[in-house]
Amino acid sequence: MESTGRAGKQDLLRQLPSVDEILKQPSIAEALERIPRKLVLESIRETVDARRRRILADQAGEEESFSLDVRWLASEAVRLAEKKNEFTLRPVVNATGIVVHTNLGRSLLASEALDRLQEVCRAYNNLEYDLAAGRRGSRYVHAEAVLREITGAEAALVVNNNAAAVFLVLNTLAQGREVIVSRGQLVEIGGSFRIPDVMAASGAVLREVGCTNRTHLRDYEQAITEQTALLMKVHCSNYRVIGFTAEVPLEDMARLAHSRGLLAVEDLGSGSLVDVSPFGLPEEPTAQQALKAGADVVTFSGDKLLGGPQAGIILGRRDVIDRCKKNPLTRALRVDKMTLAALEATLRLYRDERRAFAAVPTLQMIATPLETLRERAEELARLIRTCPGAQRLSVQVERNVSQVGGGSLPERDLPTYVVSVRSDRWSAARLEQALRHHTVPVIGRIESDRYLLDVRTLQPGDTRIIAEAFQALLADTKS
Ligand SMILES: *Cc1c(COP(=O)(O)O)cnc(C)c1O
Repeated sequence: MESTGRAGKQDLLRQLPSVDEILKQPSIAEALERIPRKLVLESIRETVDARRRRILADQAGEEESFSLDVRWLASEAVRLAEKKNEFTLRPVVNATGIVVHTNLGRSLLASEALDRLQEVCRAYNNLEYDLAAGRRGSRYVHAEAVLREITGAEAALVVNNNAAAVFLVLNTLAQGREVIVSRGQLVEIGGSFRIPDVMAASGAVLREVGCTNRTHLRDYEQAITEQTALLMKVHCSNYRVIGFTAEVPLEDMARLAHSRGLLAVEDLGSGSLVDVSPFGLPEEPTAQQALKAGADVVTFSGDKLLGGPQAGIILGRRDVIDRCKKNPLTRALRVDKMTLAALEATLRLYRDERRAFAAVPTLQMIATPLETLRERAEELARLIRTCPGAQRLSVQVERNVSQVGGGSLPERDLPTYVVSVRSDRWSAARLEQALRHHTVPVIGRIESDRYLLDVRTLQPGDTRIIAEAFQALLADTKS
């Protein structure tokens, strides 16, 4: 790298290589094989312009690394072009320990679902073609059969997400009429999805009953009028009212609804198909249990505890689901073939619960034994400690807790192991930022001035990526 010394402005401007000179550098030729020419040219121009501006502003001398070397400028331009050429949506390492992390894409698909996605989407398929009859068919038959088989529901309908499912159910069954909900269940779910707002948008009129902490059956009973369409229960999966509380069990609410000729609907939110309580989590009602308890309709997400693609699943009585299918809004909320392919493949894994726990990443991560997590944390700590320059870091394996997340299963943390990193040189915030800016971004968390990597949510190969990120940080003499 050549230093510019105290040369005058004009001298420096004369030394500044032209775009054409930079374009002839071998590193640029190599970059042009991977990166579109337009982006490379733009990056060279911007690199040269930035240098020129600094010279004109008399700032050239302030920067230790200021260089007008043509090779150096070419490598700067390549770095910039690479940045411009990055995908905006890309894989990251989730080291937060939050299994269903809405900001990080929620559920990882099982490899069975990924394979199926490719097979179905590489080819034409019978998305809306009835192969038996040889004529137009319905896309809604595809996941329906396996959903009915697993849950025992009379009928099923899959839409874009659970918000859409709730919206469609209320619009179909209660537009212009009243829906009775316990005040304690009027929740906001991440991303400012508020149950009361969705209800209002659906055209249903909300009738809140009870108090925030306690609602009794008589509260529902007294609120029923000619205007009532249905009684609704929202499963509060992202918070819990604790202490002096009372909720009406679904069985009782459904019995009351039916005795008055009304429908009972439950929005399950995370809606698992299997019991996750053996893994230290609270008992969540499964979709099957909600149907058995008398719900005429239940809705839940495809990409929370189910561990499939984003989708909203509506299960219930055939006549009610048929009405939803006939609602013109269903067309606006419909799922595409990618969702159906991945969802059908995910659901088939649930035919055998053991298979589901082994193959669905969300369940796998929840069920990982503590001892496995400890070994994984020790391995990660060892990899970080053996990076050149790691004596600047203090790396410990510690007990901590992970969360299921995604508005699923609050109030109960899963014991886990984390790798905790501290440094005499970098603050926890600086470590967090450096790893977040790595080629494959690593997302960890900060707790009491330590940077923590929870190994529960790491995938095969992630420990290697994290070690590389530390290596890059430790090798970067400027940071
Ligand atoms: C998460 C959640 C929703 C929204 O589901 P999406 O699939 O994110 O649209 C609705 N209701 C409850 C109770 C939830 O937990």
